[in-house]
Amino acid sequence: MARCQSCNKFAGYDDSHEPEVDDLEVDVVGEEILGAICVALISECCGDVMKEYSFDVNHNISSEIAAFCKKNKLADNAELEGELSLEAEMTSRTQNKDRHGKPIKTFRYMKTFYGFSVSGTMTLRAEKGKKSFEEEVEITFDDDVQASNFEELY
Ligand SMILES: [Zn+2]
Repeated sequence: MARCQSCNKFAGYDDSHEPEVDDLEVDVVGEEILGAICVALISECCGDVMKEYSFDVNHNISSEIAAFCKKNKLADNAELEGELSLEAEMTSRTQNKDRHGKPIKTFRYMKTFYGFSVSGTMTLRAEKGKKSFEEEVEITFDDDVQASNFEELY
C-alpha cells in the first residue's frame, strides 16, 4: 500500500497491466536472452504509477542451443541466428507462511512479491553448406521481488 498522488488516498495496486519490456534480445554467442523488464505498481483508483522496479534479464539458453546443434548435427561453433517472440505478464504472490511453514494470520506480516512471467518462442536458424535449419523452441522464465524493494517514485 502506498498513497496515490492523484487522490491522496492509500491505494491498492492494480496488478493486471502488462510490464514494459525493454530491448529483450537473444545473444546466441553468449547463449543468453538479455534485456530489461520494468514492472510498475499502479494505483487501483486513479491509475497513477506509484512504484516501479526494473529487472535485469539474463536468461541462459545454452541447453536450447546445444539441443538444436545436436539435433541438426551442427558444430558447437556453428553460426546461429535467433529471433524472439515473447510476451510478458505481471505476476503477484503473497507469502502467507512463515519460514517454519506455519500460516501467517496477520496481514501486515505477510510479504507480497511482484514481478513478471515471460513466455513465447525463440526461433533458431543455422546454415550448413546448402542446407538451412530452423526450429522454434518454447521459452519461459520469470522473476519477482518483494514489494518493499520497488522504487518509490515520489
Ligand atoms: Zn487515486
